[in-house]
Amino acid sequence: MQQNYKEALKDPVFNIISDAAAELSVDCYVIGGFVRDFFLKRNTPKDIDIVAVGSGIELAKAVANRLPKKPQVSVFKNFGTAMIKHQGVELEFVGARKESYHKDSRNPVVENGSLEDDQKRRDFTINALALSLNEKDYGALLDPFDGITDLKEKRIQTPLEPGITFSDDPLRMLRAIRFATQLNFEIQLSSLQAITAHKERIKIISKERIVDELHKILSSIKPSIGFSLLHQTDLLAYILPELVALEGIEEIEGQRHKDNFWHTLEVVDNITPHTDNVWLRWAALLHDIGKAPTKRFDKKIGWTFHAHEFVGAKMVYKLFKRLRMPLNDKMKFVQKMVFMSSRPIALSQDHVTDSAVRRLVFDAGEYVDDLMTLCEADITTKNPNKQKKYKNNFKLVRQKIIEVEERDHIRNFQPPVSGAEIMKAFNLEPSKEIGIIKEAIKEAILEGEIANEYDAAYTFMLKKGNDLGLKVVKKT
Ligand code: ATP
Ligand code: MG
Repeated sequence: MQQNYKEALKDPVFNIISDAAAELSVDCYVIGGFVRDFFLKRNTPKDIDIVAVGSGIELAKAVANRLPKKPQVSVFKNFGTAMIKHQGVELEFVGARKESYHKDSRNPVVENGSLEDDQKRRDFTINALALSLNEKDYGALLDPFDGITDLKEKRIQTPLEPGITFSDDPLRMLRAIRFATQLNFEIQLSSLQAITAHKERIKIISKERIVDELHKILSSIKPSIGFSLLHQTDLLAYILPELVALEGIEEIEGQRHKDNFWHTLEVVDNITPHTDNVWLRWAALLHDIGKAPTKRFDKKIGWTFHAHEFVGAKMVYKLFKRLRMPLNDKMKFVQKMVFMSSRPIALSQDHVTDSAVRRLVFDAGEYVDDLMTLCEADITTKNPNKQKKYKNNFKLVRQKIIEVEERDHIRNFQPPVSGAEIMKAFNLEPSKEIGIIKEAIKEAILEGEIANEYDAAYTFMLKKGNDLGLKVVKKT
């Protein structure tokens, strides 16, 4: 007996689709993510996939006609699909199809097929579940590959022989790892082995799609699941070789450094409860990439990674460029986080002075809280005493940041006396003295010699000008 899950189809839109399909005399089913997530009791979906045994485009048009506001239908003729936006959800329509693939493309040759043909071309058994929208068996579950059991046993496997599924469309390798991460599922052994066997096929996948999957992995609760699977299957070497280069512990003269790859994954997991900003999570992922190229052993001081933050920030640019990620303020943000990632710990190792905190706030600007969040996540020591000490130090730094902020307003620092005013005061043409005076004012504020306010800065400017041999012409 087929199981029935009418309760999944409470949304009136399913009745509308059902009626439209009946009128066109085509069978149709809701399939894929929506059905999977219903069984997993996951959040309301952003998209719902409908497969019609017939024309998906015609069905979409018929559905749109029956919807209250007659929404627009976006037709993708080349793909034989159509989309309607309805109450914030994307309804995707496709005709059931049979696919065959060529070696050098992930775009298949397509012909019309049955529901089961269509289920076979799906990536995983848990994504091939379908619920009938047809009057005769409305709500019936169609599950030819026993995806239900895989859902129960938290397992990802392909409906067909995994080697075929993955080499046909290598994006599925990343999707497998991404779903394993999002759902905290295991990838079944033969599927996992097939990923390793076909890893090279990842080369035909566009950078944009790869990054899309990386974003989804990074946005999960425990991204390390995904990155360790990427590493285990060797896909990471094709995607982010900079991270692979961090793996391993070297020992010279009894001195060892930590394994910066596994450390990095811990940092990424640590930061996720504290930020949903995917770019800050990227920063956590990349914060140590400069350590591989800068690693040296020095007989006196042991292992060093001199200027790794600087090198790492430069690598961020190259990496973003290679992966066709945006080279905009997001990239600059990640660079800044990487570049400054050792600052708070260096600061907290000494007595935490106000001026050091002021400099930190000045340099990090509006991102100082993000930087602290990153640095707190960076504490992965297994020594409970050290762990406690670092955490307390950072608490102190955070506290000082608040105090200094209240007093000095260093974040988004604007010089209290402008260049124009300096020129006016000493009757100067644009010249290097103006820069010198401005810099001196900024330094005096950061050092706490003067307050961050107009009068104090103006008086300081007059004195500084005097020191430089300038004459005051007129007080404004
Ligand atoms: P989510 O939307 O939560 O990421 P989803 O399973 O809905 O998950 P989509 O990318 O929206 O994923 O795809 C919808 C459905 O289309 C999937 O459930 C799967 O059945 C099928 N699908 C998507 N991409 C592929 C692919 N590369 N190979 C085979 N089937 C795919
Ligand atoms: Mg979806």
